[in-house]
Parts: sequence; C-alpha cells; structure tokens
Amino acid sequence: MIKNHRTIAWAFCFILLFSLVFTGDGQATERGAGPGSEFDVIVIGAGLGGLAAATHLGLNGYKVLVLEQHDKVGGCATRFERGDFTFDASLHEMAGGGPGKKDRGLYELLKLWGIHKKVEFIELPQFYRSVFPDMDIRLPSNWEGFKTVLKEEWPEESKGIDRFQRLCEQTYDDLMELKDLYRCGPLKAFFIKTLVPVRQRTFFKYMNKTLQDVMDDCFRDQTLKAVVSQLWVYYGAPTSEQSALLGLMATEGYLGDGVWHVKGTSQALSDAYAERIRELGGEIRTGALVTRVIMENGIASGVETKDGAVYTARYIVANTDPYQLAFKLVGEKHFPAKYIDRLNEMKPANSLFGVYMGLNIDLAELGYEDTEIFYQPYTSDAKTLYDTMMRGDFRNGAVAITIYSNYGDPIYAPKGKSVVTLTAYSDMDIWPEYGEAYDAFKEKKVNELVELAAELIPELADPECVEVKEGFTPRTLERFTMNKKGVVYGFYLSPEQWEKVPNRTPIPNLFIASNWTQVWHGMTSAQINGWQAAQLIIDGD
Ligand SMILES: Cc1cc2nc3c(=O)[nH]c(=O)nc-3n(C[C@H](O)[C@H](O)[C@H](O)COP(=O)(O)OP(=O)(O)OC[C@H]3O[C@@H](n4cnc5c(N)ncnc54)[C@H](O)[C@@H]3O)c2cc1C
Repeated sequence: MIKNHRTIAWAFCFILLFSLVFTGDGQATERGAGPGSEFDVIVIGAGLGGLAAATHLGLNGYKVLVLEQHDKVGGCATRFERGDFTFDASLHEMAGGGPGKKDRGLYELLKLWGIHKKVEFIELPQFYRSVFPDMDIRLPSNWEGFKTVLKEEWPEESKGIDRFQRLCEQTYDDLMELKDLYRCGPLKAFFIKTLVPVRQRTFFKYMNKTLQDVMDDCFRDQTLKAVVSQLWVYYGAPTSEQSALLGLMATEGYLGDGVWHVKGTSQALSDAYAERIRELGGEIRTGALVTRVIMENGIASGVETKDGAVYTARYIVANTDPYQLAFKLVGEKHFPAKYIDRLNEMKPANSLFGVYMGLNIDLAELGYEDTEIFYQPYTSDAKTLYDTMMRGDFRNGAVAITIYSNYGDPIYAPKGKSVVTLTAYSDMDIWPEYGEAYDAFKEKKVNELVELAAELIPELADPECVEVKEGFTPRTLERFTMNKKGVVYGFYLSPEQWEKVPNRTPIPNLFIASNWTQVWHGMTSAQINGWQAAQLIIDGD
C-alpha cells in the first residue's frame, strides 16, 4: 500500500508532463536578481532540460545564467559533421514535438515559449519496422494505421489490439485528470489520492506492473506481443522489466500526437532555445565546467567554474545527473542521509553503443525506404536480446537502424549519398579505459554491429560504399554529457523505480531538470522536466 501511495505521489508530479495549465502569455515579466545575487537562477548544463528550464524562467522575468562545459549547447541534442555528412548525435523520433493531433503535450510548451516559430518539425510517417526471426512488419505512426496493419496480420487478435489502444488512451487520460494535483493543498491532495483506485482505474491497475503484464492482458500471440512492445529498445529496459505506465503513456504519446524529427537535426532545437534564452535577457556561457556548488547555511548560494570564476544566484537548477550533483558539486554532507541512501539504492539505466555511417550510395534509391528499423533476427525475446547486448555480444543482439537521409531533410547527405546510424544498448562496465585496449575493443564491436545490420542492408559492410564509420560508446556519452556511466535515460524504468527522483532536492533552492527526474526519459521528457523544475521555482516565489 505504501508503495502504491508513493507511486501515486509520483504520478502527481508526472501529470505535469501533460498539465497545460500554463500561466505565461509569451511575454517576459519584470523580475530582477535578488539582493546580493548576480542572477536569479544559474542553470548547470545546456542539455534540453537545462535549456527548457532557462527559457521558462526567462519568460517569467528571471535573470538566468546557463553554464555549459561543452563548446556548444544541446547535450545529447546535438549534431556534428564528417566529410560530406551531418549526423544527429541522438534524436531518432520525438513524441509530441510537433503540432499534435490532440493539441496537448510538449508542443503546447514550445508554443508558450515561442520555440515553435524557430524550429521546423518533420512528421515521420513510419513509426518503425520490426524484423524478428518469423516476422517483418512496418508500422505507421498513427493509431489507425498502426491498428490496421496489426489486424491484417493478426485478425483473431482484433479485440486485444483495440483494447491496447484503449489502455494507452485511458492511462493518458487518467494522468490528465490528476493534472492539477501538484498545486493542491495537502488536504485536497489527500482526498484526490484516496479516490485514485476508483476514478483513475487504468492507471491504478498498471502502476506497479510491467509492460509484459499489459501484453499478456491484451494479446495471445508471442510475436504480436514482441512487435507491439518493440519500443523497449527506446526505453532502457526489456518488456518484462519495464514499467507498464511508461510503455502505455509513451505509445499514446507517439501514436496519439505523432512521431517527430527536427529539421536541421536536434541541434536546431537546442539552438532555438539558446536564441530564445538570449532574447529573454538570459546569458549562456559554453566551455564553462561547473566544479562546485557553493553552500552557505544549508542553501546553495552560487557556483564555481573550473577557471575559478564564481557566480551567485538565488536558485540553482542542475541539468546534471543527481550523482554528480550530490557527490561532486554539492557534497554528500549537505544532504539528508535518506536522500543519499535513495540515490545509492536506485539503479541507473544502461547506456548506448552505436555507429555513425556515411555511405556514397542512395539507400532509398536502392529500395531501402524505411526510417527506423529494429532488426533482431535471432529471437523476439526482449530479455534475451537485452542480456546479449549488455554482455557486449552485439553481433547477436538487437540493432536500431536509422536511415536519416530518408527523413527528407537535405542536411544529412548530398544527393546520391546516405546517412545511417546503428544503435544498441550497452553497459559501461564492458568497455576498457581509454587507451589501446579500448580502441581495439571498440573497432571489434563496431564491426560486429555493422555485420549484424548488414544482414539486412549488405551495403553497410561494403568498403566500396562506406565513407564514414565512427563508433560511439558509453565512454563517449559520459565524456559529452557527464552522465554517470554514459547513461542517457536516467534511472532504469522498472515499476519499482517509477517515481525516479523529484525535481526538488532537499536543499530548498536547488532543483534538478534532467532525464533523471520525475517524468519518463527522452527528449520530450527532458524538456518537460525543465519546465517542471522552473515552475516549482516560480510557484515558490
Ligand atoms: C544515441 C542516442 C539516441 C537517442 N535517441 C533518442 C530519440 O530518438 N528520442 C528521444 O526522445 N531521445 C533520444 N535520446 C535521449 C535524449 O537525447 C536524452 O534523453 C536527452 O537529450 C537528455 O537531455 P538532458 O537535458 O537530460 O541532458 P543531457 O543531454 O544529458 O545534457 C546534460 C548537459 O549538462 C552538461 N553538464 C553536465 N555536467 C556539467 C557541469 N558540471 N558543468 C557544466 N555543464 C555540465 C553536459 O555537458 C550536457 O550538455 C537518445 C540519446 C542518445 C545518446
């Protein structure tokens, strides 16, 4: 029961994700820095969570400074060039990013902030193609198309397919009904929570279950279950260990609101935020590694950067992982033992390993017209695939093959050429420290992953076609984001860890806005986490 209450409490915060009770009207309001502080708020890190927090605060009149260790903004949401090719470092598919079909979700925030005018979103017609030993199927990125394809293949499971859609929508609606809870007084909140088992029944039923439980409730055929739960490859936990709520909400996010990419890569989104923050009077400094949060009488009063500069502020928002924040930047002694114990008990998600590839052929012209392919030719069992990848056996696991040059955005490759990214899950612990052993191991693993993908697209392994082949590992991701063990998803999203860590820390003026807090992970949630942390500051003032 206690666990249920904690999960419900989490959900109240999660509701913020979709709670569109925004108070701003797109105009910045007046608010100077507090007495003695240079800034109202310092944001540590310019990933999407940090950028979104800074934008919302700037719009509400706060004087904001963003400090980013890298030489450009975006964190994971970035791009880079190699020869003729441009690579999006991360984004394949974003949920709720564009003008949504149901007028809800992230796009509402982007409109509030004025970001939507600075960025063009590309709606991807294909959700994904799943290739298993006994199945090769393409799913469109909307409910109608998604269900039609499934029903054609599994007509005897029609009712279950409809039921799955209802569960996704009901879970979403249940959470929407709870959307104002985070602003309620304790008494009202108590009554609403008490009624959850009766009023938000779908949410209540699945809050402690796995996505596998949902699959078993809806479907009989094992391959159908594997196809519908395919997005486990995006969420950081296999179906049998993944929170049901995450799977249900995210599927509704994609199929209800559309599957989106950003024209000009995810860097264009990050740059749009940076431009907006500056328009709103905020400052962004890149190449500024924060090494310490300065504490005075239990309050965070400012930060120090690697070059010894000190900046003061009334509030600090960390777009970092909570481990760096607690153990390196602030210091364990400033947190209650309970908070530190919780961090130590929580399990971080896995990291990723992959290969960025530039080809001198046009894959679409050769008949490869997909955008996102999940290729797993040896088994459809998610747990087996997950364990295989985590052991470092990338030849026999699953690979996500993303063909960026099929997005219709010329930025990726010149005419007649193609850009492809291969992605798999990986555990930092299998990777040697940087050095010769690392380089040799990385080369071997890059070739293994390419070999697997080349079973489907042989040109990927043809030296005559390949102009760029560059691997990234958990070490690469750790270096660029400073996230513990190169994790890009925050905490492992099992039902037990559904609550994650709140945006509010035990230090009254210190907040976290990153994939490690509250709402689920990925670019959509990072931005909503940013809004959420900022809104808590605004509410408290
Ligand atoms: C290969 C790959 C594919 C992905 N695909 C998708 C996808 O298709 N769809 C999707 O939605 N999501 C995807 N993601 C996940 C998504 O990119 C991330 O979840 C999201 O961008 C994380 O945002 P964040 O704000 O939490 O922070 P991060 O992107 O982790 O950024 C944190 C920032 O803080 C900075 N920083 C940290 N510590 C300090 C410090 N001490 N001082 C100064 N700066 C500091 C870092 O340099 C970094 O810029 C993918 C990620 C990867 C790596």
